[in-house]
Amino acid sequence: MEKKFKITYNESNVLGSVPYVLVKEFDLTPNILKANIAGDGSGTMIVSVVGKEDVIDRAMERVKEIGYVVCPMENHIHKDDKKCWSCGACVSVCPTNSISVDDDFHVIVNYSSCVACGSCVDACSVKALKLVI
Ligand code: SF4
Ligand code: SF4
Repeated sequence: MEKKFKITYNESNVLGSVPYVLVKEFDLTPNILKANIAGDGSGTMIVSVVGKEDVIDRAMERVKEIGYVVCPMENHIHKDDKKCWSCGACVSVCPTNSISVDDDFHVIVNYSSCVACGSCVDACSVKALKLVI
């Protein structure tokens, strides 16, 4: 299975590398979908991990032990149906084509390809979308 995580850190507090732990210690297949590193040594990355669920869970506990803050990404975009008027602006800005509007004009998010960039949130003029990670 595939699981996605938002991982935040400060270089001064971590004791190892996330890819090293996932690949070398747990034989998992990580894919870093997005990474931001600030000038002060702090950073954020969105990581997709493929493997057995129990192995992924143990691996992420290990990642926490070495100083990272790990937040699972599941249903991480909230949409307020009362505000959304199905304009499609969020659909057109998504860099990974992860949002669509179905035949009933409902906005659907494909979480497996979403990289939590926030572009859809910024594009929504009525503030119907919110990133919750
Ligand atoms: S941009 Fe906002 S109002 Fe338009 S479809 Fe997306 S969520 Fe709905
Ligand atoms: S957060 Fe980014 S990748 Fe995810 S659905 Fe919105 S625009 Fe697409």
